[in-house]
Amino acid sequence: MTLHIPFDNSFARLPDGFAAFVEPEPVRAPELLAFNDALAAELGLTKGSDAELAEAFAGNVMPQGAEPLAQLYAGHQFGQYNPQLGDGRAHLMGEVMTDQGRRDIQLKGSGRTPFSRSGDGRAWLGPVLREYVVSEAMHALGIPTTRALAAVSTGEIVLRESPLPGAVLTRVAASHLRVGHFQIYAARGQMDHLQELFDYAVARHDPEAKDPVDFLKGVIARQADLVARWMSVGFIHGVMNTDNCTISGETIDYGPCAFMDRFHPAQVFSSIDRFGRYAYSAQADIIVWNMAQLATALVPLMPNQDEAIAAFTDAVHAMPEVVRNRWRHHMGRKIGIAEATAEDVTLISDLLHLMTENQADFTNTFRALLDGTARDEFTNPSDFDIWEGQWRARMAQEVAPDEVMATTNPVLIPRNHRIEEMIAAAVSGDTSLFERLMSALASPYVADPAYTDLRRPPTEREIVPATFCGT
Ligand code: AMP
Ligand code: MG
Repeated sequence: MTLHIPFDNSFARLPDGFAAFVEPEPVRAPELLAFNDALAAELGLTKGSDAELAEAFAGNVMPQGAEPLAQLYAGHQFGQYNPQLGDGRAHLMGEVMTDQGRRDIQLKGSGRTPFSRSGDGRAWLGPVLREYVVSEAMHALGIPTTRALAAVSTGEIVLRESPLPGAVLTRVAASHLRVGHFQIYAARGQMDHLQELFDYAVARHDPEAKDPVDFLKGVIARQADLVARWMSVGFIHGVMNTDNCTISGETIDYGPCAFMDRFHPAQVFSSIDRFGRYAYSAQADIIVWNMAQLATALVPLMPNQDEAIAAFTDAVHAMPEVVRNRWRHHMGRKIGIAEATAEDVTLISDLLHLMTENQADFTNTFRALLDGTARDEFTNPSDFDIWEGQWRARMAQEVAPDEVMATTNPVLIPRNHRIEEMIAAAVSGDTSLFERLMSALASPYVADPAYTDLRRPPTEREIVPATFCGT
């Protein structure tokens, strides 16, 4: 059987000016490191041999029907507008239709494009496996995300701070449209492009939207829910630039991201985020800022500018409340409340406050609420006792709090020190830790005794203080 992908490309059909049609740059000795059979089946792929998969997903041989291209977009990076970014090391192979809708298949690390600027177009093994593990873990947690279809080592060296083994990731997404896609055409005053992109995005993601305001509200709803979900599992994205913010509402671009161990609302992992712009709790605010940038880019599409500005301003001003409601919903469920109300917010906030003071592990503390052992997670257990009394009283009003908690409080998250350990092993040729993490994280809500060690937070020596952007 040879590899067959039932491509049905739409982005490539857009008029000129949205992409550069460039082939991936071949690599010396591609070898298949990982392949996601379940996802391949969803995409309707017919698998070939490992060698054939390696050639295809390294970018050496494009499967029939692929129309590789690099997309153009701009974006605000740490608040600064960069007028031209684009796929500097990624190639969209094409799209397929699935039961869940259209999906992009994109190579990342597949060589230089006209948008590479000073970059080498490559990725190294560490970030490729990190994204593979974390994006698939995110999916298993039930949080919208791009997926990982394949990881291929290239047999080539990539130069970062030191020479490192190269790799290519194949990413699958509901689309790769980002806020930055709209920004570039608005900033350049290319109204035809902006309109075409808008029509394309509406058809793909919001077929019900009547106008740009409706469309914005759809993106706002998805992004508000996404960020609230991230916060409910202690996830810090790390680089919420507008070019890393999707229209689909999927998590994208796993760079210096991490799941928190010890809870602290101001936690930052990215070594380049010196002012905490993208700290854990700042995510709820910055997503509103990002949506304001999308709104700004959409304004020229409206016939009446004054009315447009008023309507967009209202939508953006309403967003913090939308985020708070989604946060309350998801966090409430973690303490067993099926649908938390405004009165429940104090109970949730008090627990988080006590967890901060007691350096409690985020994941284990919430899971321990279900197991009845949460007290042990606190350095000063009597802090927990007072809160517990109030919580138990509130729980008495709920129908099935344990069921709610069992599906919202994971046992396993991809802890940073485990990822670093996995990457170190993979660099020396041992992918067994990668495979073990993948198996464990496929069922994050199940307490499997085989993976008890993966529940343990890092010791002082194991703590990874920062994840670097040397991707
Ligand atoms: P990121 O920080 O990964 O979201 O990337 C931001 C921008 O830099 C995007 O336009 C990327 O395509 C580009 N970029 C990142 N790394 C590289 C690289 N090694 N070579 C070329 N472009 C890159
Ligand atoms: Mg990016």
